Amino acid sequence: MQLLFATSNPHKVEEVRAILAPAGFDVVGLDSLEVQPPEPVEDGATFADNARIKAVFYAKAAGRLCLADDSGLEVDALDGGPGVLSARYAGTGETRSEQTAANNARLLRELENVPDDRRAGRFVCAMCLADAEGRILAETRGTFPGVIARSPRGTSGFGYDPLVYLPAMDRTVAELTAEEKNARSHRGEAMRRMAESLTAMSRN
Ligand code: IMP
Repeated sequence: MQLLFATSNPHKVEEVRAILAPAGFDVVGLDSLEVQPPEPVEDGATFADNARIKAVFYAKAAGRLCLADDSGLEVDALDGGPGVLSARYAGTGETRSEQTAANNARLLRELENVPDDRRAGRFVCAMCLADAEGRILAETRGTFPGVIARSPRGTSGFGYDPLVYLPAMDRTVAELTAEEKNARSHRGEAMRRMAESLTAMSRN
């Protein structure tokens, strides 16, 4: 069964596709739609609010079941920031890779004087599934804790991955393979919970 995932980020589509394929779902991104809908305003105060806004908007626009996520990085020393502003934290950059470089540079700058024992943070992912009428069928959440490093390490993944250090593995998230990241990540956790809901729904 094909499932629309409301993102144009190919990294996210790949991560979610790998997790849902064993449950029999073929995940496709917004790029697969023949007519591209306009983008909704993501002005929610929480990740869950924004996931709901996207799922309902794209489900109605495409007239089909739609899964959406909203995710980002929360840092304790920044009172939970950048939070829902993670994607546009630095507010500069034309391309995705320029925005990522600017965001990561800003995070390092903001935490420059924060000691090692106060650099805890976590990735958070909220997911929402809506039907073609815009009814919410399921909502899940996942988290992925780490420590914000002082310099980037690793080349896999995307976004803040090179700056999120996992003490138990002595690696940053960008030094994990895709399988290792999926098994531990915020998106992986939210997605596995969503997969359970989808499987239960398809049985009823
Ligand atoms: P969204 O696309 O609105 O959910 O924004 C998510 C933003 O949070 C991304 O642009 C990244 O900056 C950050 N982010 C979310 N998940 C991850 C991840 O798995 N690794 C690195 N950065 C992430």
